Amino acid sequence: MITFLSEILQENSKEEPLQPPLAENKMKDKKRGLFWSSIFLLIFVLCCVAMFWLDIILYQHDEAPLPETEENKQHLADGSQSLLREPPCILPKAEQKWQLTSKVIYSNRLAKNMVAITFDDGPYATWTEKYLAVLAKCDVKATFFLLGQYVEKNPDVARSIVEAGHEVGSHSWYHHPLCQKDADFVARDFEKCIAIFKKELDITLVLFRPAYGEYNKDLLQTIYSYGQQTILWSVDQKDWQATDAKQLSKAIINTVKSGDIVLLHEARQTTLDALPMIIEELQKKGFTLVTVGELLNVVE
Ligand SMILES: [Zn+2]
Repeated sequence: MITFLSEILQENSKEEPLQPPLAENKMKDKKRGLFWSSIFLLIFVLCCVAMFWLDIILYQHDEAPLPETEENKQHLADGSQSLLREPPCILPKAEQKWQLTSKVIYSNRLAKNMVAITFDDGPYATWTEKYLAVLAKCDVKATFFLLGQYVEKNPDVARSIVEAGHEVGSHSWYHHPLCQKDADFVARDFEKCIAIFKKELDITLVLFRPAYGEYNKDLLQTIYSYGQQTILWSVDQKDWQATDAKQLSKAIINTVKSGDIVLLHEARQTTLDALPMIIEELQKKGFTLVTVGELLNVVE
């Protein structure tokens, strides 16, 4: 064995240094390898940046852009930043109440000089009562789209919303984009929400706002099959990223028209600070602030 190893060592020591052309080729190969490695690394970094950017755009804020349906594309093509829509199709019932549809409601243009303010994502143990205090002071009723899991966690807060005379709707259990989930997941989400709203608030859910405002045909049909109406919004001034209450209130006041549904969020200091200004200015402009249900009830 020792003899064998020493033979190998001797063999290796005999190895001649590389001849210039061979060394040059090796160097070229090395450079080529380095070049392609750099290209792959660059592509990888670019992909990471693109994914990070997409993640920010789509998921970091509460309400992501609408899915790319033909209808939405057409709507967004009009250059509007806020999600302004034509009057929804609300068919009057004999008792002058709005009728459940499998369509999306963004506003009710029949409701002259009325505006509905809505708050998403609560109830919160610390924030909700602050919003309720402002609404009480201004003597205004609003609609809160609550998450089932938070109703379970903060049932007393949820009850205080209802007891103050506000309207509540479901914003799903987890705040997952339900149109990306399978039918079983969606069904469980709805059933859990229906059960918790019934148990804690004795409320049969009628209004539903999908997380991120995302929906597809199947989800709309599911919402309808659970006896709930899909409610989105017609005014969204991105309060979740606003840092100046005056600017936020101004943007909303300048946008609002009769029959609008305004999207706001709980747990946002800027929104909370802007709320009294929004209410006061809208009232000065002659708008009556109502719940979504009241807004929809105007059928002629
Ligand atoms: Zn939300």
